[in-house]
Amino acid sequence: MPDNSDSEESDDNSGSDSQHKFNKCETLDEGIFAFMHWLNSENKKSLSPDDNPIVLLKFVNDECTILYDTNLKTEVDIEINKGVPYCKYCKQDDCSHVGFAIEAEQLFGHSRSGKEETIEDIIL
Ligand SMILES: [Zn+2]
Repeated sequence: MPDNSDSEESDDNSGSDSQHKFNKCETLDEGIFAFMHWLNSENKKSLSPDDNPIVLLKFVNDECTILYDTNLKTEVDIEINKGVPYCKYCKQDDCSHVGFAIEAEQLFGHSRSGKEETIEDIIL
């Protein structure tokens, strides 16, 4: 059983994880599209599916990301464990919410402060 307990956090995840399965990246891509959509949205706080498929509610660097899925009409908790995001709603690590969280992490995770940032801190 592979265990990532000794893996250092890495900002470069391109190609370094070659044994990872890639057959489900469509759902990850959906999350990435949703993130791009949200990023360009003029109503980043709107929880209407007409405005945003997924909304970022809260971002805590390297700890968790709280999303709102406007289609499911529910909050979705993404737990980040040693840099690996895990969706507590879908109980998966490769759903669209995880794709969204990965993008958020890449865009907002630069400060590495570990402090909690609300969406107001990020978008204002
Ligand atoms: Zn999910």
